[in-house]
Amino acid sequence: MKIICVGRNYVDHIKELKNKTPEEPIIFFKPTITLNSSSIFKMPDFSSDIHHEIEVIFEIGKKGKKIGQDDSLSFISRVGIGIDFTARDIQNKNKENGLPWAFAKSFDDSCSISRLLNIDNIGDINNIDFSLYKNGIKIQHSNTSLMIFDIKYLIHFISQKITLEKGDIIFTGTPKGVGKVSKSDKLEGSINNEKILNINIY
Ligand code: MG
Repeated sequence: MKIICVGRNYVDHIKELKNKTPEEPIIFFKPTITLNSSSIFKMPDFSSDIHHEIEVIFEIGKKGKKIGQDDSLSFISRVGIGIDFTARDIQNKNKENGLPWAFAKSFDDSCSISRLLNIDNIGDINNIDFSLYKNGIKIQHSNTSLMIFDIKYLIHFISQKITLEKGDIIFTGTPKGVGKVSKSDKLEGSINNEKILNINIY
């Protein structure tokens, strides 16, 4: 399986990081070793600015290539939320130098994911409410209706170039409110008001 991530997919987050609005989806990948479904996130020692990015995630249920937009929702099996942990200091340095983000985004446990819910229990995927709480305070909140590129288009777009396979996970971008995590922080995430993600930072 593979982990496919979308960058800059919410206008309010693009503004907070002073980035440009993309004309087509910005895609990057994380290796599978980054996947973490436990409730523990260990801070890496190479960064002093690890940020949380709460994102709605979709799991692919069957193989497909060059998927049409009208057909794309049938390729989703489950839905959840995840945190695209990002070493912002490393990323900023990479961006300044026009270099790839590799280790800013890909390090052990940098893809923390919730338990996944069956797509049939979600309702309208273009109207999913999601939130992140840090130490009990809501710090990120949005709705999938505010994505620049919606999930139908993302599946279509990604599958033009790379085959989607059963078990692949797509991170769909974070809204505003990204910020630093510190040791002993407790993160909780909810989707449509149901808390399904719980992470303790060590
Ligand atoms: Mg992200």
